[in-house]
Amino acid sequence: MVAEKLKKCPFCGATVKARNLPIHKWRVHLQHLFEKDSLSKEEIESICDTATELHYIGKNNLAIKIFRKILSIDPSNFGAWNDLSLVLKDVGKIREALKAVNKSIELNPNFAGSWSNKGFLHLLLEEDDEAIKSYERCINLDPSMLVVWYNMGAAYMRKKDFKKALECINRAIELNDEYYMAWVAKAQILDILGKEEESKKCFMKAYSINPEYVLQFIKALKRGRNMVYTSGMEAKKN
Ligand SMILES: [Zn+2]
Repeated sequence: MVAEKLKKCPFCGATVKARNLPIHKWRVHLQHLFEKDSLSKEEIESICDTATELHYIGKNNLAIKIFRKILSIDPSNFGAWNDLSLVLKDVGKIREALKAVNKSIELNPNFAGSWSNKGFLHLLLEEDDEAIKSYERCINLDPSMLVVWYNMGAAYMRKKDFKKALECINRAIELNDEYYMAWVAKAQILDILGKEEESKKCFMKAYSINPEYVLQFIKALKRGRNMVYTSGMEAKKN
């Protein structure tokens, strides 16, 4: 058996199982702060960081509750609005997530992350023109976000504008040659464009990097689901 990863609590120094640390931080050190009359900037930051960690370990409802509480205290916290929208997306509340991210953008239109997030929500809602508009804003702020190029390519694919789609996917691959999801998308586009040999090569390239993903992709496709339109956000972890 593999020993469970341990981590030190930054507040009290106690050694805690890594997966329990966000809960520990919340319950032992942060929760009671909401009883205070006012919170410092650092306290708000600490609480938001921990809410994000809670989101990462799947404690989504708790994370949503914390972000909402923070926003009732500090309604101009655009980062918290953006992070709230990410959790809402993961619990399937896409329209609510969109409202939250729009709020974030209203408060700070120069944060590329919010535009990326908004673009993906529109992609999930199959509002491809809106998705593309958001991604263009994002790219103007930061052209190095490969997932944004990939997702914009997906939006163009669904609009059947394969020339534009290919341009976007190629930009993603230029940024990271090991981006297997982009190679699969490229294979699909080339196949549609009748370039079978080139398509096969792209598919093999993806398979050589991540065979599991490619197999999963094919399986989903057989069930009528094209993962190009739904898996974009995962790619940022690569
Ligand atoms: Zn502690």
